[in-house]
Amino acid sequence: MSQKTGSGVMKKVVKFGGSSLADAEQFRKAADIVRADKSRIFVVPSAPGRRFDGDTKVTDLLYKMDEIAEKGEKIDDILGKIRARYAEIAEGLGIKDSATGKPFSLDDEFEKIRVKMTTEPERDYAASRGEYLNSLIMARYLGFEFIDAREVIFFDENGVLDSEKTNNVLGDRLKNAKNAVLPGFYGCGADGRVKTFSRGGSDITGSIMARAAKADVYENWTDVSGFMVADPRVVEDPESIDTITYRELRELSYMGASVLHEEAIFPVRHEGIPINIRNTNRPDDDGTWIVESTCQKPKFVITGIAGKKDFCSVIINKALMNSEIGFCRKVLQAFEESGISIEHMPSGIDTMTVVVHESEFLDKEQHVVSAIHRLTDPDTIDIEADLALIAIVGRGMKSMRGTAGRIFAALAHARVNVRMIDQGSSELNIIVGVENKDFETAIRAIYDIFVTTQI
Ligand code: ASP
Repeated sequence: MSQKTGSGVMKKVVKFGGSSLADAEQFRKAADIVRADKSRIFVVPSAPGRRFDGDTKVTDLLYKMDEIAEKGEKIDDILGKIRARYAEIAEGLGIKDSATGKPFSLDDEFEKIRVKMTTEPERDYAASRGEYLNSLIMARYLGFEFIDAREVIFFDENGVLDSEKTNNVLGDRLKNAKNAVLPGFYGCGADGRVKTFSRGGSDITGSIMARAAKADVYENWTDVSGFMVADPRVVEDPESIDTITYRELRELSYMGASVLHEEAIFPVRHEGIPINIRNTNRPDDDGTWIVESTCQKPKFVITGIAGKKDFCSVIINKALMNSEIGFCRKVLQAFEESGISIEHMPSGIDTMTVVVHESEFLDKEQHVVSAIHRLTDPDTIDIEADLALIAIVGRGMKSMRGTAGRIFAALAHARVNVRMIDQGSSELNIIVGVENKDFETAIRAIYDIFVTTQI
């Protein structure tokens, strides 16, 4: 995909994930990437991730530190471990303090953290220090301005991101910045305290910054060269996806594809800014482009396959339910009363099926069944467990005859019984329900028919 714009100077926001900043060597690669392209002016770092299998992410150490502090126990050991991670990075990079010329030190910062955590420990504050400290190092190393996310990213009283306020304040701040480093993962809660996003939330910060900066591209640097057509733990060495639309990605990440935080597309989507997923360890790979829409033909009829296990289906049967006004609403009310969210609702003439997460449903199962009886007086209610859902997603399916036919032929061939089918009216996805035990076989069969053999 071309990276030029008509407006002259390009602006890019680059976010680096934890594995891209796990140690000094990775840090150097990330900084080289920033320096290699003058348009990479805004940087969002995560906290240092795992350096090797079995290593612990700094964010996990910070959560542990908070647990210890909340119990009133001593945090010196764990704080020492965290400090060693940053010292290894700063020393490895050989950074000097700009004023004194002495080696760059985070001693003052660690003292502030120690005091705060021993006097009034706070979980979100603790967790946020991972990206905060990494960003101080990155800003110093690149010679970029440091912006504390607490001053520019805001949450409302319900703990939800205040998008407009954030966009205005951060947008104003960036107008005057030549370049800047903004820590990922946290902002300022309605009470003025530090508040974090959910895990992996630095992806959201990158997206927020791209929107506020009106960037041309949001580059998200990680340890894989973009999205794969299927999960590599299920399909060996799957093909990569060159270009995917926001909507396709939304469907795939909702169903479990995890490279990017599922909420990260919303801020950039607002401005139609493309996201480019790149690999810090293979910077020459193009990665995956996530775009609003494209005339680029996908490589295959399907763009991707993703799925999740452990759903339950609740099947409600009642003769002539289709002519009973309000029937569906009453069924849904039964789930709502128990606070259960619904995943899918395929329905027949005299039957309606509600698919829910097994883990959410188990405890409340009988409650829901009696509520459905009370509200709708059905003939029977059946519950089936161990259901896996697989989403086959692709903008290319819309104009293609026989896609569903090929999916079902492939599944029949692989001796997989299809327990449920749901095709969205947008024709962007087809969801099939299979037994948990058939999950991997089904994904491989679908992958093979569309990608390996391409018949
Ligand atoms: N450091 C945080 C986490 O481990 C946020 C992030 O990396 O995006 O979840």
